[in-house]
Amino acid sequence: KPLDLIQFCHELVAQVQKSSAENVINFVSQCNSLSANVDQELLERILKNLLDNAIKYSSTGSAVNLQLAYKDEKVIFQIIDRGIGILAADRQRLFEPFYRGNNIKNISGTGLGLSIVKVLVDLHGGQIAIESEVGVGTTVTVMLPS
Ligand code: ATP
Ligand code: MG
Repeated sequence: KPLDLIQFCHELVAQVQKSSAENVINFVSQCNSLSANVDQELLERILKNLLDNAIKYSSTGSAVNLQLAYKDEKVIFQIIDRGIGILAADRQRLFEPFYRGNNIKNISGTGLGLSIVKVLVDLHGGQIAIESEVGVGTTVTVMLPS
C-alpha cells in the first residue's frame, strides 16, 4: 500500500534529530498530503544516509533541511546543508565505493554511503543529483517515481 510520505518524513526527522544534538533538522513540505508506492525500508536507508552526510559535513549548529515536493508525477526529496561543501574535483567520483572528498579533514567515514544510496535510488527507478559549493553548502536532490 502507498506510503504516507509526510508522516514518514516527520517521523524520520524526529528520529534523526534525537541522535544529533548539534544540528537542528527541519522538515519542510510543499504538499499538504503526499503518498507514493515506494519501499519504506529503501527510502529510509536513502534518506538516513543523506541526512547523516548533511549533519556530519556541517559545522556545529547549522541547520539541515529535508524538503519534500511533488512535480511531474515524481516525488522530490532535497537534503540541504550549510556545511563544508564538495570540491569540484571530487564531484565526479562521489558515487564510487570508498571514495572520499579531499576537504573532509578529520571527519570519519568509509566512503560507502553515497554508493549505496545510488544503487537504492536506481532500484527505485529514480535519479539523484548533487549541487554544492565549497564553504557554502550542499543540496542533494532525489527524484522517485510516485
Ligand atoms: P560513510 O557514509 O560510508 O560513513 P562517507 O560519508 O565519507 O562515509 P559517502 O557518504 O559515500 O561517504 O560520501 C562520499 C564523500 O562525499 C564524503 O567523503 C564527502 O567527501 C562527500 N560528501 C557527501 N555528502 C556531503 C555533504 N553533505 N557535504 C560535504 N561533503 C559531502
Ligand atoms: Mg556518508
